[in-house]
Amino acid sequence: MAMETTDDQQQSQGGGFSLPNIPTNIPGMPKVGDVLQKGGKKVEQVIAQGAKKLLQKAAFTPEFWIGVGIAIVILIVIALFLIIITTIVGGSNGNPLPSPEPGPPPTQGQLLTCPSGDYATCLKQDFNISVLGGTSNDIMRIFQAFAFAGQSKQYVSLLTANGPLRIFILGYDPKVCSGLTIGILGIIKISNGACFTMPIDSFRHLIIHESGHVIVGRNPRLYQSFPWTQYQTTDSSCYDHGYLKSYALRCGSSCGIRPKAESFAESVSDSLTEYDNSKFGSAQPIPDFPADCPATYNWFKDNVFGGFTFF
Ligand SMILES: [Zn+2]
Repeated sequence: MAMETTDDQQQSQGGGFSLPNIPTNIPGMPKVGDVLQKGGKKVEQVIAQGAKKLLQKAAFTPEFWIGVGIAIVILIVIALFLIIITTIVGGSNGNPLPSPEPGPPPTQGQLLTCPSGDYATCLKQDFNISVLGGTSNDIMRIFQAFAFAGQSKQYVSLLTANGPLRIFILGYDPKVCSGLTIGILGIIKISNGACFTMPIDSFRHLIIHESGHVIVGRNPRLYQSFPWTQYQTTDSSCYDHGYLKSYALRCGSSCGIRPKAESFAESVSDSLTEYDNSKFGSAQPIPDFPADCPATYNWFKDNVFGGFTFF
């Protein structure tokens, strides 16, 4: 910090004139170097004292405490945001995403079981399905339905193409089991009551039909490629006014129920098992789906179920 000066440096190094020789060693006067050294130390002391005062001042001013408060609030907001995101991503039950399964993935045709009895966890881990509401028995029935359909790996991958399938068990109806699906969002809503007291094959038929709408919503190109118009001629005995005739809620074109989408969803369900739906609504039985509707059946076998057959 201190600057050393010499007499030599005081002389001009160029130019047309030179500075007069000024004696620097006057008796009783401090040397120039001493003055600068002392001055430097003083400056250092002033700076150090000033910084100390500033730090002390900053640590106790209202502005300082306001700054600390704002920082704490920001940290809390970030923590809450992360918790919410984790909850949303983790599923409707609020659990974080499960760690990757330790074993190999299920093979084609494997009917999975849930030895732990924790069917909600098994649904999430095996099929990426979350269930909100319902009793443990209701969730067990949902697991049984998807464990059967889920023997086809391609079906599961189409179903969960854009994320988990979420099933909401909302409302109570002791007489009718009804389903409502928002396909593109992967949401199935079913009513409580009759849905979970009906025979398992009836329940499975309904919820797998609803899952067909999710496949439609999440795989639009696949849905567009379904030769529905052509198959109404090829499999003429299977269709009624554009609907696969095992579908129960057929109505005119003005009712808003789309015959192509319903035929698609119903075919997904009919591919699993022979099921007589004729006691519901306007449904007509298709006793042997593979034999009675071969073009439709084979298209779904190849394009939805990856060649897997349930019969
Ligand atoms: Zn439907």
